[in-house]
Amino acid sequence: MNLILLGPPGAGKGTQARRLEDTRGLVQLSTGDMLRAMVAEGGPLGQQAKDIMAAGKLMPDELMVQMIAERISKPDVTNGFILDGFPRTVAQAEALDKMLADKGLKLDHVIEMKVVDDILVDRITGRYTCAKCGKGYHDTFEKPKVEGVCDVCGSTEFKRRADDNAATVTTRLSQYHEQTAPILPYYRDRGVLKTVDGMAEIDDVTKQIEALLAA
Ligand code: AMP
Repeated sequence: MNLILLGPPGAGKGTQARRLEDTRGLVQLSTGDMLRAMVAEGGPLGQQAKDIMAAGKLMPDELMVQMIAERISKPDVTNGFILDGFPRTVAQAEALDKMLADKGLKLDHVIEMKVVDDILVDRITGRYTCAKCGKGYHDTFEKPKVEGVCDVCGSTEFKRRADDNAATVTTRLSQYHEQTAPILPYYRDRGVLKTVDGMAEIDDVTKQIEALLAA
């Protein structure tokens, strides 16, 4: 099964993608994670990515399409994938269609996670993760049970994304509305678009997604 989780930054795409990896054996393909790994490696392309991400702007389509094309060809993707953060423009969506057609693959579902902007700013600026196991937390909505200690692995080190600050979030949201939201009618016209309420509790969003996949 091949899926796209589509929605603004902070909608919960990463959280739901990781759950679907566990429950359905799919592979999460997050272009944001791939870019952050590239930044961590350094090099000229990493520096370019770092600057663009810090500004909340989008990376060039050609580079992103190439990145996904390479990743999707790896053997671990045979059970299916969940795209998280790609496509982000209509040009990327068109390139993905072509890429999948060439491989004899198809998209089964495109799931829009709908959340209003006001909520997203609070969600994004307060979120952080365990540096060791990646468990997600939030300053207000989801604190560790013991302050400063990860519930899952006991680590005391946490990290925040460099672009999860109020100034960058505003640009990321306007980029979503201008560049990414036009993908919604693109997939609606192809009959694969479904919508869930991304403002519900995390477990409830998972249930909504599972219901769509089972239908
Ligand atoms: P994310 O982790 O999905 O929120 O992505 C973080 C940042 O990486 C975005 O704000 C963009 O700067 C960049 N990025 C991730 N995916 C894409 C994409 N498909 N196209 C262009 N830029 C991207």
